[in-house]
Amino acid sequence: MEQHPADQPRQPLLGIPFAALQSQLVALGLEAFRARQLWHWVYVKGGRDFASLTTISKPAREILATHFVVDRPRITTHQQSVDGTQKWLFGLSDGQQVEAVFIPDVTAGRGALCISSQVGCTLTCRFCHTGTQRLVRNLTPGEIIGQVMAVRDVLGEWATPYQHRKLNNIVLMGMGEPLFNYDNVAAALKCIMDPDGIAISKRRITLSTSGVVPLIARCGAELGVNLAVSLHATQDALRDAIIPLNRKYPIAELIAACRAYPALSNSRRITFEYVMLKGVNDSDADAKALVKLLHGIPAKINLIPFNPWPGAPFTCSDDATIQRFGDIVNAAGYASPVRTPRGRDIMAACGQLKSASTRMRVAQMEAITALQREKEQAQGLLG
Ligand code: SAH
Ligand code: SF4
Repeated sequence: MEQHPADQPRQPLLGIPFAALQSQLVALGLEAFRARQLWHWVYVKGGRDFASLTTISKPAREILATHFVVDRPRITTHQQSVDGTQKWLFGLSDGQQVEAVFIPDVTAGRGALCISSQVGCTLTCRFCHTGTQRLVRNLTPGEIIGQVMAVRDVLGEWATPYQHRKLNNIVLMGMGEPLFNYDNVAAALKCIMDPDGIAISKRRITLSTSGVVPLIARCGAELGVNLAVSLHATQDALRDAIIPLNRKYPIAELIAACRAYPALSNSRRITFEYVMLKGVNDSDADAKALVKLLHGIPAKINLIPFNPWPGAPFTCSDDATIQRFGDIVNAAGYASPVRTPRGRDIMAACGQLKSASTRMRVAQMEAITALQREKEQAQGLLG
């Protein structure tokens, strides 16, 4: 271990943009090109202890070790589902916790990591367990990247050539609304996409939004990642009820922003997520309305069987209904894979994160309703 004075606060290095790192090193009296060596050691080799940074002289290493720390969020629990899905609960430096889920595609020998962008969420989508929690805070860029780093530690794939990596896709579909933490998410993604670092390309990163319309264009222009939109309804009355953010950014505006998303083509399509809620949005007429609404947009439709959680006011559509809905969408020429629920046994499926597998009491349900009102009021979503 390199020495460092115990009373010196060290800056977390993960998430510092490359250019900023370069100027910080210069300010510490080091050559600017050291930033490249440091970056490679952190993001290609997975280095953490400066003693292993042997491309840099010992005195320079000591300066780095005095000023920086290469941290990971602490793994509080790690669970593995019968289907191979793995879930980690991470403890952050202030004691808050977030989850990430690795969903392997066993046949292809690789997988996607679903990461969180916030602790809790400001929004109140009625089918989502995270929506029943308060927004505690945004994650920092370092905490967002830290989830990827920690999982790569566990998978043991530092310095592994890209084609042999297990973690080669990232989806921002964990806790939180990524476009409500845009700056930190953007800083983290720029770092993750850097070809001299973790090097996961924008084509392998998907950001899912509940429909924060004003930031969709910026996300496309600045980051160029794949976009997934949690649509879930084709009419404002229903979408207003189940995704209250729709009262601010109604369907027509959302769809217009999708049509304008840059670089769309048949090989770069927007994913429209559609959660199958029994008797709510799953009729043949709903399927036809969906097809009509998306007409002309290069799109994939991802049908998500509703994942239950204690106290949820919905149940999942039957298999036959989901099948019929999918057939209508397919017949209109859209790929519409039904997302097989993964990791339900460890509450790792969409919308279940950080929910317990116990029943909820009436008082708890009332507290949730009160919190929903409070959150919607704060967002200006109450009439
Ligand atoms: N906040 C972002 C990303 C996180 S949610 C968003 O809303 O898009 C990831 C996906 O899971 C979204 O499409 C969301 O609508 C969906 N989801 C939430 N709760 C769910 C549940 N209980 N069952 C199935 N899908 C759910
Ligand atoms: Fe937040 Fe997304 Fe859940 Fe809605 S679905 S409450 S935006 S995490």
